[in-house]
Amino acid sequence: MSDRIVSPGLLGEESPADTSLRPRNLSEYIGQSRVVENLQIALRAAQGRGEPLDHVLLYGPPGLGKTTLAYVIAAEMGVNVKVTSGPVVERPGDLAAILTNLREGDILFVDEVHRLSRTVEEVLYPAMEDFCLDLMIGKGPAARSIRLNLPRFTLIGATTRMALLTSPLRDRFGVVYRLDFYDIEAMRDIVHRSATILGIPIDEAGADEVASRARGTPRVANRLLRRVRDYAEVKGTGVIDRATASAALAMLQVDALGLDESDRRVLHTLIDKFDGGPVGLDTLAAALNEDADTIMDVYEPYLIQLGFLERTPRGRMTTRHAYSHLGLTAPRPEAKPDSGQERLF
Ligand code: ADP
Repeated sequence: MSDRIVSPGLLGEESPADTSLRPRNLSEYIGQSRVVENLQIALRAAQGRGEPLDHVLLYGPPGLGKTTLAYVIAAEMGVNVKVTSGPVVERPGDLAAILTNLREGDILFVDEVHRLSRTVEEVLYPAMEDFCLDLMIGKGPAARSIRLNLPRFTLIGATTRMALLTSPLRDRFGVVYRLDFYDIEAMRDIVHRSATILGIPIDEAGADEVASRARGTPRVANRLLRRVRDYAEVKGTGVIDRATASAALAMLQVDALGLDESDRRVLHTLIDKFDGGPVGLDTLAAALNEDADTIMDVYEPYLIQLGFLERTPRGRMTTRHAYSHLGLTAPRPEAKPDSGQERLF
């Protein structure tokens, strides 16, 4: 299931180092206008003062451009960026090694920052706040702590799960930017831009078709574009028009809204096994034989965005839109008087 073509995360063969499609500066960064505007001001102010940027926390579903934005910020500030991720930094010593290798003004990008261990986080607090590192040397009564000064750096943390961040860590970020799914215009621009870079012939309608099935997620758009190109070269004329895009995506089992088999399985399970809900996340995970975290991070955000699913205090529920998308008849509200589902209809 992790190999889904519409997965917002990286697939096996994809490498985050595949940077050809990555926007390099803010003017190339499409969409997210609210974030971009705020960032422009923050960047200009920091540059004016000759200081590093405040620590930045980026949050939102995978594939929306958090890593890209970290590189863009580094390029705009003219500094180096060191990239790592929460689970990789296992011990306080690992973090100390990274921090002491930074240069003045550098950016440290920590993906999945909510997965840092508590002991590592504790080293990070004084580093973020006072740009220093408290190290313990020796053991027992002879142990003493020494303080090392660090270069002034900017931490950019990225997370898909704001709620899992500890509050001391969250409080140490000067700014928090939330990335949202991209609207259709931005997605069209992203498809056109990627097609130009990759030299893929595509017309307006073809770009529209790919864009509208890419779940508001640039990473998915880029992946669909490459697969549709294969299809156009083998089965079509090589040019991506609406008919080719639509036939290719139908073959890949990506429907008109970008849902694939796995998404439909989530909805069908909710509807067939649990009467549309409400059902607790763990029960749903067990019924799907899926990890609860995967359901929360990967499946739900887009289904919620489409208005097909709701998280309620009593559990997950499908909405009338989900029934009609699947070609099913929604139950009459009075058939389930106390479920709260009628509110969603
Ligand atoms: P995240 O870190 O949020 O998982 P990435 O920054 O790795 O996402 O973005 C995934 C891919 O999507 C990038 O390789 C890039 O090609 C593309 N992308 C992301 N944001 C944009 C954007 N604003 N404009 C154009 N392409 C983008």
